[in-house]
Amino acid sequence: MNQFLQTEEWKIIEKGFDANQQRASESIFSIGNGNMGQRANFEERYSGDSLQGSYIAGIYYPDKTRVGWWKNGYPEYYAKVLNAANWIGISISADGEELDLSTCKTRDFCRELNMKEGILKRSFVATFPSGREVRAEIIRFVSMVDKEAGAISYTISPLNFSGNLFITPYIDGDVKNEDSNYDEKFWIEINKSLDGTTGFVTLETKKTAFRVCTAMTTRAELNGKKINLTTSQILKEKYIASPFQVSLAETDELTIFKYAVNLSSENHSKEQIDENAGRLLQGVVDKGFDNLMNEHIQAWGKKWENSDIVIEGDTEAQQGIRFNIFQLHQTYTGEDPRLNIGPKGFTGEKYGGSTYWDTEAYCLSFFLNTAGHDVARNLLIYRYKHLQKAIENAEKIGFTDGAALYPMVTMNGEECHNEWEITFEEIHRNGAIAFAIFNYIRHTGDKDYLSEYGLEVLIAIARFWRQRVNFSEEKNKYVILGVTGPNEYENNVNNNWYTNYIACWCMEYAMESAEFVKETSPGNFREIAAKLKFKEDAETSHWKKIIDNMYFPEKKDPAVFLQQDGFMDKEQVLVKDLDPGIRPINQHWSWDRILRSVYIKQADVLQGIYFFEHKFDPETIKRNFDFYEARTVHESSLSPCVHSILAAKTGDIEKAYDLYLRTSRLDLDDYNNEVAEGLHITSMAGTWMSIVEGFGGMRIIQNELCLNPLIPKRWKSYSFHIRFRGRLIYVTKDQHETTISLIRGNPLTLVVHGKRIRVEEKNDHTLVT
Ligand code: BGC
Repeated sequence: MNQFLQTEEWKIIEKGFDANQQRASESIFSIGNGNMGQRANFEERYSGDSLQGSYIAGIYYPDKTRVGWWKNGYPEYYAKVLNAANWIGISISADGEELDLSTCKTRDFCRELNMKEGILKRSFVATFPSGREVRAEIIRFVSMVDKEAGAISYTISPLNFSGNLFITPYIDGDVKNEDSNYDEKFWIEINKSLDGTTGFVTLETKKTAFRVCTAMTTRAELNGKKINLTTSQILKEKYIASPFQVSLAETDELTIFKYAVNLSSENHSKEQIDENAGRLLQGVVDKGFDNLMNEHIQAWGKKWENSDIVIEGDTEAQQGIRFNIFQLHQTYTGEDPRLNIGPKGFTGEKYGGSTYWDTEAYCLSFFLNTAGHDVARNLLIYRYKHLQKAIENAEKIGFTDGAALYPMVTMNGEECHNEWEITFEEIHRNGAIAFAIFNYIRHTGDKDYLSEYGLEVLIAIARFWRQRVNFSEEKNKYVILGVTGPNEYENNVNNNWYTNYIACWCMEYAMESAEFVKETSPGNFREIAAKLKFKEDAETSHWKKIIDNMYFPEKKDPAVFLQQDGFMDKEQVLVKDLDPGIRPINQHWSWDRILRSVYIKQADVLQGIYFFEHKFDPETIKRNFDFYEARTVHESSLSPCVHSILAAKTGDIEKAYDLYLRTSRLDLDDYNNEVAEGLHITSMAGTWMSIVEGFGGMRIIQNELCLNPLIPKRWKSYSFHIRFRGRLIYVTKDQHETTISLIRGNPLTLVVHGKRIRVEEKNDHTLVT
């Protein structure tokens, strides 16, 4: 744990500059708007350790795979989200001394992220080696309204001297990815131009040929009055700068407004992109900094209106959940079905900005409930559009007849992760993609989705499972060999319970869905069947045979589902008996030792119980929870949330609370000592789930919305929003009662604490519990 931030309900605040925390803070104070994102790098030069990060949605590079021994079927490349041109840069110097917090002395340093408004502020007093002192205050945001624009106001004031300040706003496209496999730069220059303070640099990625035009312009005020700038020009490869100097008297205040836009060829034709950038830039400058900022703040206000979770009586927990909601909204806004949610969003390079099963297993619920069904639908359509590629992925490793294996890691539908134990073996991801369709439909009631898109995906996934199982003569059952379950601390296992379970469920759901489409839209069904060459009877009877004869590892005393064959051969030393000094184990033990140990990285059997909870009785859930929680080290960010939900389900509200705090403050308190690499965006949706599904007990059972709100002792109350089949519902729980309000939509009958109640707009329903 590393707690260096202050606890406030709506803000993240860092007081005092500590170079050792710089990378961590750069992640935590990242800003984004779904279309672009920026780590909290400094505008002025910083020669200390830092991870430069400016990212544009959908822009990636297929970096050549690096592995030891090449194996057939390995993906050729590993897709990387790209560190794009630095648009924030403003170098500042006084009489040859450069403002650089690594070499200047710094006092009164404060960094503040206002989550309500989406604004990043920083202020400090810096003393140059000569003794000159300047005070600076910087405001930065990337607009939630003009999604290609960002703006900075940089106010600087000499405190103990008069003289010239040299200011150099620039765009620098000569940037690298730290995780570049062969230390290669990924961008080439296409064009650049500079005229006065306004200019642009247009770059294109090698191989993928994505084009991005980054344009900037600068305005300035002296003591609140606009001044005209006389600039010189620097043009280098992939770089433009428009330096100017301003003579300042002691305590004068110079404010530099830097506006920038980033346009990509995903949204603009290559021929038009430079011109469009100029026009868009002019548009944001015409609005002016204050208007641009106010519109942006209002847009954030709207987002919070329907997605805030209020927790009274626990500032740490409140700050935690708001930070998570804030970061999710910064990462994905859902207008563009080509985009998805990278595990690190726009906050770091790790995980390549690619799409993982995290989206379907974790993020979907959050967006279903807070952003509207169309946004969630776009997440599903993303996978529908990748179906052909998923079929090709499966073909590459020997599957046939339209079987689809969705990639574990992808940018465009192709697999682009290169560890065999993940790529070839972590096939459970296919299950999450089917589950998301089910989850979306039970939530929205949009069953038409099946005939429009869903059924094709489900058939292709079921076909994969049919071919992936084999019949064991010895067991007289179907088995699934050589897999990695969600617990990546174990590879190449046989009969991972979760994988076997979800495989059967997928085939069952595909069968039901085929039946449903055949009955309700026979025309569509015929089209789909012809397109997929679907031999309904033959294929479904084969699926059914497998479902009826699948092998599931189990043990007695206590009777639990076994994570995989042979799990009990492991040394059963529980997590509570581990020396805290060797945690996290992935930073202290060899991989070999981890693989042989009993310790579980993240929910595995429990992931299955979480997804299919309604199929298990409460005692079974509790026994499995107790058994696996005692062996889980939660070294994946995706883990504590699922355990928190199940702890609440078993009635252990205090345990649920501890796990909740861990999930919600994972990055703020850096539990796993890795926040410097970027934030855990996808698990943030899990934090949301641990309140709404955990404490709130939200479930959809047989088309009915059910709630069972519990409250941790420490909290006075908490409230959350959910959307269900066209309604917006607000739930408040305090230590005595539960209140349900229908904010928008038709009257609804729902089940609260086992009682059926009817809610109507403007008519709160309160139950004493
Ligand atoms: C987890 C995976 C997850 C990935 C990206 C890994 O550490 O084990 O389940 O998909 O991170 O979040």
